[in-house]
Amino acid sequence: MLELRIAHLYPRELNLYGDRGNLLALADRVRRRGGRVTVVPLGPGDPFRPAEVDLVFIGGGQDREQRWIAEDLARGKGRELVAAVRDGMPLLAVCGGYQLLGRYYRTASGEKIPGVGLFDLWTEAGRRRLIGDVAVESDLWEEGRRTLVGFENHAGRTWLGPGVRPLGRVLRGHGNNDRDRSEGARWLNAVGTYLHGALLPRNPRLSDWLILAAWRRKYGTERLDPLDDRWELTAHAAALRRLGLAAS
Ligand code: GLN
Repeated sequence: MLELRIAHLYPRELNLYGDRGNLLALADRVRRRGGRVTVVPLGPGDPFRPAEVDLVFIGGGQDREQRWIAEDLARGKGRELVAAVRDGMPLLAVCGGYQLLGRYYRTASGEKIPGVGLFDLWTEAGRRRLIGDVAVESDLWEEGRRTLVGFENHAGRTWLGPGVRPLGRVLRGHGNNDRDRSEGARWLNAVGTYLHGALLPRNPRLSDWLILAAWRRKYGTERLDPLDDRWELTAHAAALRRLGLAAS
């Protein structure tokens, strides 16, 4: 039986705006294909064992939680995560978790919270929070529906270095920094983004991109059986319409 083992990093500390829903969406899509899902919650102090994991998820949190988590990541877990992603492990990081996987996050009070440098990017807090619904056009897929929809709420402005590509181009909303229209970042099979919502329930193609990356690495899977995405795509289209965009 196909299996997806998900390491959920800091579920108690980093879980904003329904980020946990991303795991429910992944689990649902694996089960509907007859597979099995195991979620391994990893809190501060728990060891990360890459051989026991197929995919990593880390959600969003506020500055205070990010400070604690940065300390835990600095004690070795961050280095191990970078090594696992370099080896092809898929990873999804949202908002606060995304910021922590960059080089650093400078808070509004000027404090510099060190990141693990998995993504070549850095974040500086601005005065105004960037809040609202977002639509992004992504080139993650060759063809077909290319939009991602979600909800953002962050003070941080993220700037991408040459070592990463953006996850997509902002169609509506703010994205990484409200300036260059980039949203999120990609490096190998790792995706970072500001999109909560939760993100995956309304973006089934991104869920499948992550599952396929995990199973290609583990089993050599070439493609996933399609699922009936009626509800997911109805929610996706409703979000686009609310932003004044035609459903793609
Ligand atoms: N503290 C970060 C910011 O405001 C992340 C917030 C979040 O995860 N929503 O930029």
